[in-house]
Amino acid sequence: AKDEQRGICRAFEARMDIAAQEKNRLEKDFRAAVRNDELEVHYQPLVNLETGDVECYEALLRWNHPTRGLVPPDVFVPIAEEMGLIDQIGRLVLYQACVEATLWPEHIKVSINVSPLQFRNGNLLSTVINALSTSGLCAERLELEITEAVLMEKGPRPAAIIRNLRAFGIGISLDDFGTGYSSLSYLLNYPFTKIKIDKSFILNLDSEANSRAVIRAVIGLGRSIGLTVAAEGIESEVQRDYLREEGCLQGQGYLFGKPEPASALIVPGRRAA
Ligand code: C2E
Ligand code: CA
Ligand code: CA
Ligand code: CA
Repeated sequence: AKDEQRGICRAFEARMDIAAQEKNRLEKDFRAAVRNDELEVHYQPLVNLETGDVECYEALLRWNHPTRGLVPPDVFVPIAEEMGLIDQIGRLVLYQACVEATLWPEHIKVSINVSPLQFRNGNLLSTVINALSTSGLCAERLELEITEAVLMEKGPRPAAIIRNLRAFGIGISLDDFGTGYSSLSYLLNYPFTKIKIDKSFILNLDSEANSRAVIRAVIGLGRSIGLTVAAEGIESEVQRDYLREEGCLQGQGYLFGKPEPASALIVPGRRAA
């Protein structure tokens, strides 16, 4: 039994070794990716559920790995955070997306995901203002998507930064709404303009009465305090129709469009670059 245990241990250590090597390789590759311009911003529409019109595009980062193909952000964003590269990546997305949005008709906004770590060094506000002035995009057309994790950051800093961003006219969305906790007090204490109901609730909308109840409550709550309510992960007409009937204003999901590179977007009224 001892031997067997030792064998299991060794197999386990070997697996850990492989995982560590794999991580090492990814980290090395990621550094090269930033240098070699392998990161690409894709855009996914948010549509008005009543009219079907596109009101916003969310910028979603992609890593085009030379041999592995597309590496999803759930894999490389944590790597970028750990390697201290998230500020650099964040700036890249911000600049690219703002420049791209200047080519769209003025009623269409752009939204950008911001990592909690980008709130740490105190440069976020100036980075955002810089991206706006360099691109010429007006602040009212930019939305930043943050998660509750940002609000968990210690100290008054995140709150002050969020208020300053809002004071410039930039929209602030609370992403993945419903997956964290104590969101309700956050909603009243921060100047959010939008909440995005997490796609896990939408996924289970057809099968779970509980998900429908949460969705209905969140829409009612959001609307009653004057926020735009959006839902992500809409894949079916049943989901869309339920959300629209409950008064959800905006929707995003494969039903309306997948994330695509800017060159593949068909934006009515888009100007040539
Ligand atoms: P998120 O902000 O919650 O983005 C929504 C995710 O849902 C995206 O995954 C999107 O492609 C996916 N999605 C959209 N419609 C549907 C649908 O109908 N069904 C399903 N099953 N999924 C749908 P993606 O692009 O893989 O991004 C994953 C996460 O990575 C994002 O979650 C966001 O947290 C993070 N991320 C992406 N780009 C950036 C970035 O530029 N900066 C930072 N800090 N994080 C990013
Ligand atoms: Ca998002
Ligand atoms: Ca989300
Ligand atoms: Ca998410």
